[in-house]
Amino acid sequence: MDHAMSTSAETPVELTRQCPICGARLRIELFRSGETACTDCGHVVWYEKRTIDGVAILDVFSGMVAINTDIDRVSKTLITGEEPPRVVLNLSRLKFISSAFVAGMIAMQKRIRAAGGRLILCGMHPIVRETLHGARLDTFFDIREDEEDALRSI
Ligand SMILES: [Zn+2]
Repeated sequence: MDHAMSTSAETPVELTRQCPICGARLRIELFRSGETACTDCGHVVWYEKRTIDGVAILDVFSGMVAINTDIDRVSKTLITGEEPPRVVLNLSRLKFISSAFVAGMIAMQKRIRAAGGRLILCGMHPIVRETLHGARLDTFFDIREDEEDALRSI
């Protein structure tokens, strides 16, 4: 068996199971609810992070969290200062997003742009896309069909 050619679309994603803010190990059950705070730092865990070729990929599993409240801490983990941050938000696990979540994504995009970096959204469910379109944000954000597409263009 040759696994070298497998892509993330075909194989289960290896997830860190760590708090993306403080690095504490998290129990796997946390990831089913999407509304659970890290017991160490209190961060409400709404994504897991992977890194591919220097691009941070955030697998978002809750679109209902008010991410504005911790955008400072999240931004600090993404904007390290050495190179302009390149971030992909993979939204493929979401069926809905709240307006508080959208506000958080706007804040995140502003932070990343101010640091000279790029943020790309991908894997949007039609309803999620419609939410952004309705808010006239589908041109504000850089949106790609899937993760492969996002990684190619970032
Ligand atoms: Zn934590």
